[in-house]
Amino acid sequence: MREKVECISCGEYFDLDEDRNIDDIIYCPECGSQLKIISLNPPEVEPVENENLREDLDEDNEEDL
Ligand SMILES: [Zn+2]
Repeated sequence: MREKVECISCGEYFDLDEDRNIDDIIYCPECGSQLKIISLNPPEVEPVENENLREDLDEDNEEDL
């Protein structure tokens, strides 16, 4: 069962994939904001500050679970 999460940036509700974990970064399908998952039950997100673009870090726990 999928949960709905509210984008804190635009207020839109969208589906949160059930394989997401806390601290995962997701993107709002409506406004494209980066959101970090801070809670799964109930699903909650907070905005991610775009201080740095870190595409190359976190290699060890991205798709290795
Ligand atoms: Zn949004």
